[in-house]
Amino acid sequence: MKGELLIILLFVISLGTRAQNIDPRIVCSCNDVHVVPKSERLKLKSTQSTYHIPVVFHVFDPSDPQSKFTLQDAQYAIDLLNGNFSGQHRNVDNVQGTFKPIIAQCNYKFHLAKKDKYGDAFNGITYNKKDWKGDNPGSNSTLKSYQNFNTGSNIGGTQRYLQIWLTYNVNGDDMGSGWSYLPSYDQGGKWAGIVYNYKMINHSYTPNNDILTHEVGHYLGLSHVFGASYTSCGDDGIEDTPITKCEAWECSKGDICSDGLVNTENFMSYSGCTAMFTNDQGELMTYWMEHDYRSNLWSEDNLIFTGIYDDTVTGLQEEIENKLKVYPNPSHGIINIEGLDTFKAELFDITGNKVAETNNTSLTYAVSGIYFLRIISQGHVISKKVYIK
Ligand SMILES: [Zn+2]
Repeated sequence: MKGELLIILLFVISLGTRAQNIDPRIVCSCNDVHVVPKSERLKLKSTQSTYHIPVVFHVFDPSDPQSKFTLQDAQYAIDLLNGNFSGQHRNVDNVQGTFKPIIAQCNYKFHLAKKDKYGDAFNGITYNKKDWKGDNPGSNSTLKSYQNFNTGSNIGGTQRYLQIWLTYNVNGDDMGSGWSYLPSYDQGGKWAGIVYNYKMINHSYTPNNDILTHEVGHYLGLSHVFGASYTSCGDDGIEDTPITKCEAWECSKGDICSDGLVNTENFMSYSGCTAMFTNDQGELMTYWMEHDYRSNLWSEDNLIFTGIYDDTVTGLQEEIENKLKVYPNPSHGIINIEGLDTFKAELFDITGNKVAETNNTSLTYAVSGIYFLRIISQGHVISKKVYIK
Protein backbone atom coordinates (compact mmCIF):
# COMPACT_ATOMS: atom_id res chain seq x y z
CA MET A 1 0.00 0.00 0.00
CA LYS A 2 1.13 3.50 -0.75
CA GLY A 3 0.60 4.61 2.82
CA GLU A 4 3.03 2.08 4.18
CA LEU A 5 5.78 3.44 2.01
CA LEU A 6 5.40 6.92 3.35
CA ILE A 7 7.19 8.27 6.35
CA ILE A 8 4.49 9.51 8.66
CA LEU A 9 5.85 11.80 11.30
CA LEU A 10 3.07 14.10 12.38
CA PHE A 11 -0.30 15.08 11.15
CA VAL A 12 -1.59 18.51 11.89
CA ILE A 13 -0.48 21.88 10.67
CA SER A 14 -1.33 25.22 12.10
CA LEU A 15 -0.57 28.78 11.26
CA GLY A 16 -1.31 31.74 13.40
CA THR A 17 -1.20 35.41 12.70
CA ARG A 18 1.33 36.32 10.11
CA ALA A 19 0.93 40.02 9.57
CA GLN A 20 4.22 41.65 8.75
CA ASN A 21 4.39 43.56 12.01
CA ILE A 22 3.89 40.52 14.24
CA ASP A 23 6.65 38.06 14.96
CA PRO A 24 5.14 34.72 13.87
CA ARG A 25 7.42 32.86 16.22
CA ILE A 26 4.88 33.46 18.95
CA VAL A 27 2.41 31.25 17.13
CA CYS A 28 4.74 29.06 15.10
CA SER A 29 4.30 26.03 17.28
CA CYS A 30 2.80 23.14 15.37
CA ASN A 31 4.95 22.28 12.43
CA ASP A 32 4.41 18.84 11.05
CA VAL A 33 6.09 17.06 8.20
CA HIS A 34 4.99 14.20 6.04
CA VAL A 35 7.85 13.29 3.76
CA VAL A 36 7.13 11.59 0.45
CA PRO A 37 10.46 10.53 -1.04
CA LYS A 38 11.04 11.63 -4.61
CA SER A 39 11.03 8.01 -5.77
CA GLU A 40 7.46 7.73 -4.47
CA ARG A 41 6.42 11.09 -5.86
CA LEU A 42 7.46 10.01 -9.32
CA LYS A 43 5.09 7.04 -9.16
CA LEU A 44 2.10 9.40 -9.25
CA LYS A 45 2.91 11.84 -11.99
CA SER A 46 0.52 14.35 -13.49
CA THR A 47 -2.16 12.87 -15.72
CA GLN A 48 -4.13 16.08 -16.32
CA SER A 49 -3.48 19.14 -18.43
CA THR A 50 -5.44 21.04 -15.78
CA TYR A 51 -6.67 19.98 -12.36
CA HIS A 52 -10.03 21.66 -11.78
CA ILE A 53 -10.86 22.00 -8.09
CA PRO A 54 -14.37 22.86 -6.80
CA VAL A 55 -14.26 25.12 -3.74
CA VAL A 56 -16.93 25.93 -1.16
CA PHE A 57 -16.72 28.56 1.58
CA HIS A 58 -18.78 28.06 4.76
CA VAL A 59 -19.07 31.43 6.52
CA PHE A 60 -19.91 31.56 10.25
CA ASP A 61 -20.76 34.75 12.10
CA PRO A 62 -23.18 35.41 14.98
CA SER A 63 -24.84 38.50 13.53
CA ASP A 64 -24.41 38.97 9.80
CA PRO A 65 -22.32 36.37 7.97
CA GLN A 66 -23.35 37.74 4.55
CA SER A 67 -21.58 41.02 5.22
CA LYS A 68 -18.37 39.38 6.43
CA PHE A 69 -17.53 37.53 3.25
CA THR A 70 -19.24 38.40 -0.01
CA LEU A 71 -19.43 36.65 -3.35
CA GLN A 72 -16.97 39.26 -4.58
CA ASP A 73 -14.57 38.35 -1.76
CA ALA A 74 -14.92 34.69 -2.68
CA GLN A 75 -14.20 35.24 -6.35
CA TYR A 76 -11.27 37.48 -5.50
CA ALA A 77 -9.85 34.78 -3.21
CA ILE A 78 -10.27 32.20 -5.98
CA ASP A 79 -8.61 34.47 -8.52
CA LEU A 80 -5.64 34.99 -6.23
CA LEU A 81 -5.29 31.25 -5.61
CA ASN A 82 -5.26 30.66 -9.35
CA GLY A 83 -2.61 33.32 -9.87
CA ASN A 84 -0.46 32.21 -6.95
CA PHE A 85 -0.45 28.51 -7.88
CA SER A 86 0.36 29.24 -11.52
CA GLY A 87 3.45 31.30 -10.72
CA GLN A 88 1.82 34.69 -11.27
CA HIS A 89 1.89 36.24 -7.83
CA ARG A 90 1.95 40.03 -8.06
CA ASN A 91 5.44 40.16 -6.51
CA VAL A 92 6.95 37.30 -8.46
CA ASP A 93 9.31 39.71 -10.19
CA ASN A 94 10.92 40.45 -6.82
CA VAL A 95 11.91 36.82 -6.16
CA GLN A 96 15.65 36.43 -5.60
CA GLY A 97 17.51 35.34 -8.72
CA THR A 98 18.48 32.02 -7.14
CA PHE A 99 14.86 30.96 -6.97
CA LYS A 100 13.39 32.48 -10.12
CA PRO A 101 14.25 29.45 -12.28
CA ILE A 102 12.39 27.08 -9.94
CA ILE A 103 9.12 28.96 -9.52
CA ALA A 104 6.38 26.34 -9.89
CA GLN A 105 3.66 26.84 -12.47
CA CYS A 106 1.07 24.39 -11.22
CA ASN A 107 -1.71 23.49 -13.61
CA TYR A 108 -4.43 23.83 -10.99
CA LYS A 109 -7.58 25.85 -11.46
CA PHE A 110 -9.81 26.59 -8.50
CA HIS A 111 -13.52 27.26 -9.08
CA LEU A 112 -16.37 28.30 -6.86
CA ALA A 113 -18.69 25.30 -6.87
CA LYS A 114 -21.93 25.84 -8.80
CA LYS A 115 -23.92 23.01 -7.24
CA ASP A 116 -24.29 22.18 -3.58
CA LYS A 117 -24.17 18.71 -2.09
CA TYR A 118 -27.87 18.20 -2.92
CA GLY A 119 -27.33 19.08 -6.58
CA ASP A 120 -29.06 22.45 -6.29
CA ALA A 121 -27.78 25.61 -7.95
CA PHE A 122 -25.32 27.31 -5.69
CA ASN A 123 -22.89 30.23 -5.69
CA GLY A 124 -20.15 28.52 -3.70
CA ILE A 125 -20.87 30.02 -0.26
CA THR A 126 -22.99 28.88 2.68
CA TYR A 127 -23.89 31.42 5.37
CA ASN A 128 -24.32 30.20 8.92
CA LYS A 129 -25.56 32.56 11.62
CA LYS A 130 -23.75 30.92 14.49
CA ASP A 131 -21.43 32.26 17.15
CA TRP A 132 -18.85 29.57 16.78
CA LYS A 133 -15.11 29.98 16.79
CA GLY A 134 -12.79 28.05 14.54
CA ASP A 135 -11.78 24.70 15.88
CA ASN A 136 -8.30 24.31 17.15
CA PRO A 137 -5.95 22.23 15.05
CA GLY A 138 -6.65 18.59 15.58
CA SER A 139 -10.26 19.00 16.62
CA ASN A 140 -13.28 18.72 14.38
CA SER A 141 -16.21 19.88 16.32
CA THR A 142 -18.84 22.45 15.67
CA LEU A 143 -18.12 24.12 12.33
CA LYS A 144 -17.29 21.00 10.40
CA SER A 145 -20.11 18.97 11.90
CA TYR A 146 -22.73 21.62 11.27
CA GLN A 147 -21.86 22.37 7.67
CA ASN A 148 -20.07 19.78 5.60
CA PHE A 149 -20.31 18.98 1.90
CA ASN A 150 -17.97 16.02 1.84
CA THR A 151 -18.62 12.43 2.70
CA GLY A 152 -16.91 9.78 4.70
CA SER A 153 -15.75 9.68 8.26
CA ASN A 154 -13.29 11.62 10.33
CA ILE A 155 -10.36 9.83 8.78
CA GLY A 156 -10.94 8.56 5.27
CA GLY A 157 -13.60 9.36 2.70
CA THR A 158 -14.19 11.14 -0.57
CA GLN A 159 -13.28 14.69 -1.39
CA ARG A 160 -15.96 16.39 -3.45
CA TYR A 161 -15.12 19.97 -2.54
CA LEU A 162 -12.16 21.81 -1.13
CA GLN A 163 -13.99 23.15 1.90
CA ILE A 164 -12.97 26.38 3.65
CA TRP A 165 -14.73 27.14 6.94
CA LEU A 166 -14.55 30.86 7.75
CA THR A 167 -15.14 32.45 11.12
CA TYR A 168 -13.89 35.30 13.28
CA ASN A 169 -11.60 33.46 15.69
CA VAL A 170 -9.21 30.66 14.84
CA ASN A 171 -6.86 28.81 17.17
CA GLY A 172 -8.42 30.68 20.08
CA ASP A 173 -7.27 34.01 18.65
CA ASP A 174 -9.35 36.72 16.99
CA MET A 175 -6.36 37.34 14.74
CA GLY A 176 -5.39 33.69 14.26
CA SER A 177 -5.40 33.01 10.55
CA GLY A 178 -5.97 29.36 9.80
CA TRP A 179 -4.97 25.73 9.71
CA SER A 180 -5.37 22.64 7.57
CA TYR A 181 -4.78 18.93 7.80
CA LEU A 182 -2.26 17.26 5.56
CA PRO A 183 -3.81 14.65 3.23
CA SER A 184 -1.80 11.91 4.93
CA TYR A 185 -3.78 12.60 8.09
CA ASP A 186 -7.32 13.24 6.86
CA GLN A 187 -7.04 10.55 4.15
CA GLY A 188 -9.71 12.32 2.12
CA GLY A 189 -12.17 12.29 5.02
CA LYS A 190 -14.88 14.85 5.50
CA TRP A 191 -12.85 16.85 8.01
CA ALA A 192 -10.31 17.65 5.31
CA GLY A 193 -10.16 21.31 4.43
CA ILE A 194 -9.21 24.65 5.88
CA VAL A 195 -10.40 26.53 8.95
CA TYR A 196 -9.73 30.18 8.31
CA ASN A 197 -10.34 33.64 9.69
CA TYR A 198 -12.56 35.65 7.36
CA LYS A 199 -10.81 38.80 8.51
CA MET A 200 -7.68 37.53 6.73
CA ILE A 201 -9.39 37.20 3.41
CA ASN A 202 -12.35 39.54 3.02
CA HIS A 203 -12.73 43.03 1.64
CA SER A 204 -11.49 44.70 4.82
CA TYR A 205 -8.16 42.87 4.92
CA THR A 206 -5.27 44.80 3.47
CA PRO A 207 -1.94 42.91 3.42
CA ASN A 208 -2.59 40.12 0.92
CA ASN A 209 -4.22 36.77 0.56
CA ASP A 210 -1.13 34.60 0.63
CA ILE A 211 -1.99 32.85 3.88
CA LEU A 212 -4.91 31.08 2.23
CA THR A 213 -2.49 29.95 -0.47
CA HIS A 214 -0.25 28.64 2.33
CA GLU A 215 -3.14 26.66 3.81
CA VAL A 216 -4.11 25.20 0.45
CA GLY A 217 -0.45 24.19 0.18
CA HIS A 218 -0.93 22.17 3.38
CA TYR A 219 -4.19 20.72 2.03
CA LEU A 220 -2.16 19.51 -0.95
CA GLY A 221 0.53 17.95 1.21
CA LEU A 222 3.16 20.63 1.75
CA SER A 223 4.87 21.22 5.06
CA HIS A 224 6.50 24.42 6.18
CA VAL A 225 9.87 25.08 4.54
CA PHE A 226 11.45 24.94 8.00
CA GLY A 227 10.06 21.45 8.53
CA ALA A 228 9.29 20.36 12.06
CA SER A 229 11.85 22.67 13.58
CA TYR A 230 11.13 25.77 15.54
CA THR A 231 14.39 27.29 16.59
CA SER A 232 16.84 25.02 14.79
CA CYS A 233 17.43 24.41 11.10
CA GLY A 234 14.81 22.05 9.73
CA ASP A 235 14.04 20.22 6.51
CA ASP A 236 10.69 19.89 4.77
CA GLY A 237 11.72 16.84 2.73
CA ILE A 238 11.69 18.89 -0.48
CA GLU A 239 14.93 18.91 -2.46
CA ASP A 240 14.86 22.42 -3.88
CA THR A 241 13.83 24.35 -0.75
CA PRO A 242 16.90 25.18 1.36
CA ILE A 243 17.01 24.04 4.96
CA THR A 244 15.91 26.95 7.09
CA LYS A 245 14.49 28.08 10.40
CA CYS A 246 11.08 29.23 11.38
CA GLU A 247 12.68 32.51 12.38
CA ALA A 248 13.49 33.29 8.76
CA TRP A 249 10.36 35.34 8.56
CA GLU A 250 12.19 38.48 7.63
CA CYS A 251 12.21 39.01 3.93
CA SER A 252 15.93 38.82 3.35
CA LYS A 253 17.73 36.48 5.70
CA GLY A 254 20.74 35.26 3.69
CA ASP A 255 22.15 31.83 4.38
CA ILE A 256 21.21 31.04 7.97
CA CYS A 257 21.60 27.26 7.83
CA SER A 258 24.61 26.82 5.55
CA ASP A 259 22.34 25.42 2.85
CA GLY A 260 22.13 28.40 0.56
CA LEU A 261 19.95 31.47 0.56
CA VAL A 262 16.71 31.25 2.44
CA ASN A 263 13.69 31.07 0.14
CA THR A 264 11.80 33.73 2.06
CA GLU A 265 9.49 34.11 -0.92
CA ASN A 266 8.12 30.62 -0.41
CA PHE A 267 4.40 30.43 0.39
CA MET A 268 5.20 27.76 2.97
CA SER A 269 7.43 30.06 4.98
CA TYR A 270 6.19 32.54 7.57
CA SER A 271 7.70 35.56 5.85
CA GLY A 272 5.77 38.61 4.82
CA CYS A 273 7.03 38.57 1.23
CA THR A 274 5.74 35.27 -0.12
CA ALA A 275 5.34 34.88 -3.88
CA MET A 276 6.13 31.33 -5.02
CA PHE A 277 6.14 27.58 -4.68
CA THR A 278 9.15 25.65 -5.98
CA ASN A 279 9.09 23.03 -8.72
CA ASP A 280 9.64 20.19 -6.23
CA GLN A 281 6.80 21.47 -4.06
CA GLY A 282 4.66 21.46 -7.20
CA GLU A 283 5.70 17.88 -7.85
CA LEU A 284 4.62 16.89 -4.34
CA MET A 285 1.27 18.68 -4.63
CA THR A 286 0.61 16.95 -7.93
CA TYR A 287 1.46 13.62 -6.29
CA TRP A 288 -1.30 14.30 -3.78
CA MET A 289 -3.67 15.50 -6.50
CA GLU A 290 -3.23 12.07 -8.09
CA HIS A 291 -3.49 10.23 -4.78
CA ASP A 292 -6.79 8.62 -3.75
CA TYR A 293 -7.08 11.12 -0.90
CA ARG A 294 -7.55 14.04 -3.31
CA SER A 295 -8.11 12.64 -6.79
CA ASN A 296 -11.91 12.61 -6.62
CA LEU A 297 -11.90 16.42 -6.56
CA TRP A 298 -11.01 16.78 -10.22
CA SER A 299 -12.63 13.60 -11.56
CA GLU A 300 -15.12 14.11 -14.37
CA ASP A 301 -17.99 12.73 -12.28
CA ASN A 302 -17.19 15.16 -9.52
CA LEU A 303 -16.92 18.14 -11.85
CA ILE A 304 -20.44 17.26 -13.02
CA PHE A 305 -21.60 16.79 -9.42
CA THR A 306 -20.28 20.20 -8.35
CA GLY A 307 -21.56 22.00 -11.44
CA ILE A 308 -18.31 23.11 -12.99
CA TYR A 309 -18.10 20.47 -15.68
CA ASP A 310 -19.72 22.69 -18.31
CA ASP A 311 -17.11 25.40 -17.79
CA THR A 312 -14.20 23.07 -17.95
CA VAL A 313 -15.31 20.68 -20.64
CA THR A 314 -17.31 22.78 -23.06
CA GLY A 315 -14.42 25.17 -23.15
CA LEU A 316 -16.67 28.23 -22.87
CA GLN A 317 -14.38 29.72 -20.28
CA GLU A 318 -11.40 29.16 -22.51
CA GLU A 319 -13.28 30.54 -25.51
CA ILE A 320 -14.03 33.76 -23.65
CA GLU A 321 -10.45 34.00 -22.45
CA ASN A 322 -9.20 33.58 -26.00
CA LYS A 323 -11.54 36.23 -27.41
CA LEU A 324 -10.72 38.78 -24.75
CA LYS A 325 -8.08 41.37 -25.54
CA VAL A 326 -6.83 43.68 -22.81
CA TYR A 327 -4.25 46.26 -23.86
CA PRO A 328 -1.93 48.00 -23.43
CA ASN A 329 -0.41 46.39 -20.39
CA PRO A 330 1.29 48.26 -18.80
CA SER A 331 -0.92 51.22 -19.58
CA HIS A 332 -0.91 54.87 -18.64
CA GLY A 333 -4.40 54.68 -17.19
CA ILE A 334 -6.60 53.84 -20.18
CA ILE A 335 -7.16 50.09 -20.53
CA ASN A 336 -8.90 48.79 -23.65
CA ILE A 337 -11.12 45.74 -23.21
CA GLU A 338 -12.18 44.23 -26.51
CA GLY A 339 -13.43 41.01 -28.08
CA LEU A 340 -16.52 40.34 -25.93
CA ASP A 341 -20.08 41.36 -26.82
CA THR A 342 -21.36 41.84 -23.30
CA PHE A 343 -19.34 42.10 -20.16
CA LYS A 344 -18.71 44.02 -17.00
CA ALA A 345 -15.16 44.95 -16.00
CA GLU A 346 -14.02 45.81 -12.49
CA LEU A 347 -10.59 46.99 -11.41
CA PHE A 348 -9.32 46.02 -7.96
CA ASP A 349 -6.21 47.22 -6.19
CA ILE A 350 -3.93 44.68 -4.52
CA THR A 351 -5.80 45.00 -1.24
CA GLY A 352 -9.03 43.92 -2.91
CA ASN A 353 -10.73 47.31 -3.05
CA LYS A 354 -12.66 48.03 -6.22
CA VAL A 355 -11.34 51.28 -7.70
CA ALA A 356 -13.13 51.42 -11.07
CA GLU A 357 -15.68 49.61 -13.22
CA THR A 358 -17.15 49.83 -16.68
CA ASN A 359 -19.36 48.16 -19.29
CA ASN A 360 -17.55 49.93 -22.09
CA THR A 361 -14.52 48.94 -24.10
CA SER A 362 -12.22 51.24 -22.22
CA LEU A 363 -11.61 51.72 -18.55
CA THR A 364 -9.87 54.79 -17.20
CA TYR A 365 -7.99 54.83 -13.93
CA ALA A 366 -4.76 56.78 -13.78
CA VAL A 367 -3.17 55.89 -10.47
CA SER A 368 0.03 53.94 -10.95
CA GLY A 369 0.27 50.50 -9.41
CA ILE A 370 -0.53 46.82 -9.82
CA TYR A 371 -4.20 45.88 -10.20
CA PHE A 372 -6.45 42.96 -10.95
CA LEU A 373 -8.92 43.48 -13.79
CA ARG A 374 -11.95 41.23 -13.31
CA ILE A 375 -14.15 40.70 -16.33
CA ILE A 376 -17.51 38.97 -16.07
CA SER A 377 -19.09 37.70 -19.28
CA GLN A 378 -21.80 35.06 -19.81
CA GLY A 379 -21.49 34.10 -16.17
CA HIS A 380 -17.78 33.47 -16.47
CA VAL A 381 -15.06 35.38 -14.72
CA ILE A 382 -11.66 36.19 -16.14
CA SER A 383 -9.00 37.93 -14.10
CA LYS A 384 -5.92 39.64 -15.41
CA LYS A 385 -3.10 41.36 -13.63
CA VAL A 386 -2.56 44.80 -15.10
CA TYR A 387 0.01 47.49 -14.47
CA ILE A 388 -0.71 51.21 -14.59
CA LYS A 389 2.33 53.44 -14.92
ZN1 LIG B 1 1.31 26.48 7.99
